[in-house]
Amino acid sequence: MNGCEIHRAKWILPIVRPPIENGAVALSEGRILRTGTYEDLKEKGIKGRVIDHGNGVIMPALINAHAHLEIPSLTSLPAKDFVTWLKTVIEKKQNLTDRQIEEAEKNAHQMLKQAGTGLVGNVKNFPVVNSKKQIDEITFYEFLGLKREVANQRWPLFKGLLEENPSSELSAPIYHVIHPAAHAPYSVHPDFLPKIKEIALKRKQVFAIHVAESEDECKFLLEGKGALKELLEEKGLLPDNFKPPQKRPIPYLAELGLLGPNTLCVHCVEVNKEEVKILQRFGVKICLCPRSNYYLQLHQAPWKLLKGSGLLVCLGTDSLASNQDLNLFKEMAFALKKGIFSPSELLEMATWRASMALGQGHIFGTMFPGARARLIFLPLDPNTACRELAEAVIYTGAQEKLNWIE
Ligand SMILES: [Zn+2]
Repeated sequence: MNGCEIHRAKWILPIVRPPIENGAVALSEGRILRTGTYEDLKEKGIKGRVIDHGNGVIMPALINAHAHLEIPSLTSLPAKDFVTWLKTVIEKKQNLTDRQIEEAEKNAHQMLKQAGTGLVGNVKNFPVVNSKKQIDEITFYEFLGLKREVANQRWPLFKGLLEENPSSELSAPIYHVIHPAAHAPYSVHPDFLPKIKEIALKRKQVFAIHVAESEDECKFLLEGKGALKELLEEKGLLPDNFKPPQKRPIPYLAELGLLGPNTLCVHCVEVNKEEVKILQRFGVKICLCPRSNYYLQLHQAPWKLLKGSGLLVCLGTDSLASNQDLNLFKEMAFALKKGIFSPSELLEMATWRASMALGQGHIFGTMFPGARARLIFLPLDPNTACRELAEAVIYTGAQEKLNWIE
């Protein structure tokens, strides 16, 4: 076959297959044609311009399953606690102008690209369209409103925006498609949560929700008390005569019918053994944001339990309001130090697992034939052994030592 480009390097890291030494990948019309050793490709008669990248690794670009790109950086000050931080975010967002939102998204796209990310799950509250996207994006439009009257008032705009952007085939430019999301069990009226999930199901899309992020959230849902209740009251967001569901976050979502294979549960920090079983029963997807949880002085999710559960777990950075940067390699380096997930597992969580969680199958985050040609090259020491590759890739990427294959 002629007319393609062949990129070769000391190593190819296809993620879902073992590393290939003296590897090459043939690209044609923005898609992956074939991956193998350079000799394999030659034997198969694949011809084209050859670009040799030398010592290092060619791999799929990363996928950040959860971020809020419209939120500018707020991490110059340490977070006191979750609720105080949430108050700052609410106040900051109230005063954002369209121009600031657009600027924040533009900068965030730049940061993501520099850090080797090729697809992002971007949660938005403002329907401001950033036309200058540098990487692919799954846009989640997020619903908020715990008071029935507020939710009623916002619903037509939310539904209308989704209807204006119908879901479409995978072949369409994905950044034209909007997915529905709910903010959290403590910030959306229980009558509206199932309606949002229903829309996602009908559109064959992913439904994303923050869940079980903090102890404050658990206390609020169980008892209707605590710092979160006080903040919602102070901001006029708490319904009159509010009655808590008297359930922890996961059982509450299960009761409302919100869990299922198309649900992307973000955080899942306050989740116990029994609740992991509930998540398993429904086959939900989980996105962990370890550095955001750390910044907000929250617990970490039960990584060992989740790892052993067989559930699909992926990674996200969350926003620049709770993370210093949007570098997913740094997220992996942080997680690696805890010694629970291996370097290879973390790379899977930041590539094809995230693609599955965002409803994109193997189109992103893999090097299968037909997958999008979103590839990066990371230079490595020529003596790096095969078993050291995954770890070396994480630490090299964390320093943003990488090039795009374009
Ligand atoms: Zn978030």
